Amino acid sequence: MFKKYINMFREDMRYVMSRRCGLDELNNFIMLIGFIFVTAALFTHNWVFVLIGAVFVVLCYVRVFSTKLDKRKVENDVYMRYMGRVVRLVDYGKLIVKMKVRSMKDAEYVYFVCSNCKQVIRVPKGKNKVSIRCPKCNATFIKKT
Ligand SMILES: [Zn+2]
Repeated sequence: MFKKYINMFREDMRYVMSRRCGLDELNNFIMLIGFIFVTAALFTHNWVFVLIGAVFVVLCYVRVFSTKLDKRKVENDVYMRYMGRVVRLVDYGKLIVKMKVRSMKDAEYVYFVCSNCKQVIRVPKGKNKVSIRCPKCNATFIKKT
C-alpha cells in the first residue's frame, strides 16, 4: 500500500524531471562553489560566506527545476566552451581514482584508463611491466600491473 504511493511518487518525479534541466555540468559547478562557501562558513563562522553559498545553492536549484530547457542549454554550452577542458580533465581524474580503487578491490585484474580516449582497459594482475594496446583507439602505453 505504502510502497505503491512511493512508486507513484517516483514515476511523477521522473516525469517532472524529464522536462526539467536537471544536473548539467554547469549546475555541478555551481553546486560545488556553493558547497565550498558553506564549508568556508563552517570554519570561519563568517555569515557572509553562508549568504554567498546560499545564493549559489538557490541558483543551482532554480536551474535544476527550470523548464526553459533551451535557455539552460545555451548557458551550459557557454560554460562548456570555456570550461569544457577542465570539466573533462576532472572527469578523467575521477575515473582514474575510481579505477584505482576498483583495481585494489579486484584480486585478479588491474584497471587502466586510456589517456587518449578514456577507455577503461582490464589487465590481469601480476604480469609486472606490460605494453598495453587500447582496443578502442590503438594507442599503446606501458604500465605496471
Ligand atoms: Zn584509447
